[in-house]
Amino acid sequence: MNKDIATPSRTREILQKHGFSFKKSLGQNFLTEPNILQKIVKTAEIDEQTNVIEVGPGIGALTEHLARAAHQVLAFEIDDRLIPVLADTLSPYDNIKVVHNDILKVDLKKETEYFAQAGPIKVVANLPYYITTPIMMHILESDLAVDEMVVMMQREVADRISAKPSTKAYGSLSIAVQYYMEASTAFIVPKTVFIPQPNVDSAILRLVRRKTPAVEVTSEKEFFKLTKAAFILRRKTLWNNLLNSYGKDDATKAWLETSLQQAEIDPKRRGETLSLEEFARLSNALEANKAN
Ligand code: SAM
Repeated sequence: MNKDIATPSRTREILQKHGFSFKKSLGQNFLTEPNILQKIVKTAEIDEQTNVIEVGPGIGALTEHLARAAHQVLAFEIDDRLIPVLADTLSPYDNIKVVHNDILKVDLKKETEYFAQAGPIKVVANLPYYITTPIMMHILESDLAVDEMVVMMQREVADRISAKPSTKAYGSLSIAVQYYMEASTAFIVPKTVFIPQPNVDSAILRLVRRKTPAVEVTSEKEFFKLTKAAFILRRKTLWNNLLNSYGKDDATKAWLETSLQQAEIDPKRRGETLSLEEFARLSNALEANKAN
């Protein structure tokens, strides 16, 4: 087996050889602990049938561990300076394709034509923290059927994504992700295993695609609009937040009141106390009572 990229000494050697300097603006914190990489691969339950998408391979620390276990790996890296580095560090592997592009700009469906055989598609990545949420939503809302995601992010964001109702961390992001996926935190990663060290600890979040969305809604657009509106001002009641987003005229008030009543939800509650089921009930009532 080839020598691991992800040891502190080999990482420094590679960075020095290529004269690489970190760009904070691109969220570059490289992992230097092979045991953690092994744990990530194990958590994702990758085998030789699995096709893996990686976001931000950096110098290839995680990529090579994925390539050893998976069928194929497709990795998207935005930083042009890393492309020749990756060509060098990943040269021993013939099942990796590195695409030089911004993950938010790629057509995932088209890019995954690279995968030569059908098999589960999993996203495994140490995400650039400055765009964790846009990346998650880009992948979840793409046409691509991603079966599972095992992704590293700031611990606080992982807590928000997997949060349950009536907790401080619960919000529209929890709902947006949990609508599609079952979310749980797999383990915590201390900041000491990165070069350079980030300011906060990280967490590995495991998301498994539900067979069908968590709740049945007549309009996803209405559902997501409602869940965003309900959390705009966390200290306000649901009623106040709804008025602020939908309008305060009499017709809108009557529409909101009827729908809340039908959904059996007390307008004096705070948004953070509503479960996904309750949001779905309210969203379906709002949709049904819309004036034609
Ligand atoms: N996977 C490597 C590791 O674990 O050591 C590096 C992870 S580092 C936290 C994030 C990586 O994402 C960097 O290589 C950075 O250049 C890349 N990146 C940042 N923004 C990106 C984007 N929009 N699209 C693709 N890659 C991006």
